[in-house]
Amino acid sequence: MTAESCFIIIIYAAIVVFSGAALLFIMTSLRERRKRPALLAAALYIPAAAVALFLAAHPEPVYRWPVAGMVLAGLLAVLVLFLPFGTVAGLSVPGSRKRIDERDAIFHRFYRLKPGTGEFREFYRAHPELESVDEKIRAMPHIDEPGTVTYNAKTTPFSSSLFAVMDRIFRDERLDETDSSEEPVRSDPEENTRRIKGFSLYSGADLVGVGPLDPANVYTHIGRSPGKWGSPVTCDHPHAVVLAVEMDYSMVRHAPHHIATTESSFKYFKVGNAALAVTSYIRSLGYSARPHVDGNYRVLCPPVAVDAGLGELGRLGLLITPEYGPRVRLAVVTTDMPLFHDNPREFGVQDFCEFCRKCAVNCPSGAIQRHGKQLINGVEKWQSSQEACFSYWRRVGSDCSICLKVCPYSHPGSLLHNLMRIAVRRNPAARRIALHMDDFFYGRRPKNRYPLPEWHR
Ligand code: SF4
Ligand code: SF4
Repeated sequence: MTAESCFIIIIYAAIVVFSGAALLFIMTSLRERRKRPALLAAALYIPAAAVALFLAAHPEPVYRWPVAGMVLAGLLAVLVLFLPFGTVAGLSVPGSRKRIDERDAIFHRFYRLKPGTGEFREFYRAHPELESVDEKIRAMPHIDEPGTVTYNAKTTPFSSSLFAVMDRIFRDERLDETDSSEEPVRSDPEENTRRIKGFSLYSGADLVGVGPLDPANVYTHIGRSPGKWGSPVTCDHPHAVVLAVEMDYSMVRHAPHHIATTESSFKYFKVGNAALAVTSYIRSLGYSARPHVDGNYRVLCPPVAVDAGLGELGRLGLLITPEYGPRVRLAVVTTDMPLFHDNPREFGVQDFCEFCRKCAVNCPSGAIQRHGKQLINGVEKWQSSQEACFSYWRRVGSDCSICLKVCPYSHPGSLLHNLMRIAVRRNPAARRIALHMDDFFYGRRPKNRYPLPEWHR
């Protein structure tokens, strides 16, 4: 075989490989019912492929050099995407972290405090600066009431029904009865960890991790959760099992329509039930355990999940997992059962969020900070405004979730998106290329032009 024919074979093989990649992108986009990226990819691919084939088939060898240049550029791009270089850093914690009072969380103010009660008066006596902003929010309809932008008498109750069920199951004060009456069954931490993780996944979790329970992640006083308002919280379990359930992208992409709240409520329900099952199992083996589920937390779930190796905290203030991005709902089980811990995972989120800012750009309430990190309670992180975010929820009639929808880490699982997930973990250049591609194909301000599922119209 001559050098010329080898050259021709390599060029045709490269055209086939790049065509495969382009077709995979187009097919994936069509399967996800996203027309814009499919059309853009086809508009780029078809002329490029036609020119490449024309030049490659030309009898004059000199015509093949531009194709060889294109192939080389493509190979270089693949190398840049997948070569591991650069370092990744997690959140910086230069100061000491203080425990947080659950009464400082916004849900406490709107889901527990009732005007006219002693709790209400005591809280606003201590926080007069919050009185006027909270009054304005209280004057708005609740997120599941008529008067909100996306309210629908037949479909809004999907989420409110699920929250009503959770209220009955998850807010049971017996969840605080952590101790077991059984003698602990002898077993080693390795076996315990294996069984707990397996049972968590079997019970409905999509991800599970085990980490230490840092006392700084335990609330100081009871706020929204069941129990005497303002009582000190005690939760001295050394370990935390963190469960996560994926939120369906085909639901989340309609945000801020209230279908996003149907999805989040269902996934709170699902992950909470898995946590209850795991708690019950641990107690039946003679160990102490407490579930931390929607509306009944003694711990702050996102930082506990970071310590358990499930992901990193992103600019939007939520956990970003390597598998599903921020499209997850969490529950925690704290326990004294001997368990092995997972290592925290750092995969470039701090770097990506620094220049991405897509959640902040798309946030309709301006709640997400656009500039650099601040030192907050000993941690360098981005600050979000709970009040701005929650007011928007009350206006739109859902838990909004636009930030979840637009985050480039949120794309649904598929070969193509999973390859990009691998790439953005490997080096800072890949992260920058990935964001430019995301903006180009999906839009800096992505639009949802897809019909709601028939059962939710
Ligand atoms: S849920 Fe909506 S309003 Fe709240 S931070 Fe996210 S995008 Fe902004
Ligand atoms: S949208 Fe961008 S900046 Fe916001 S959390 Fe996701 S990756 Fe970070």
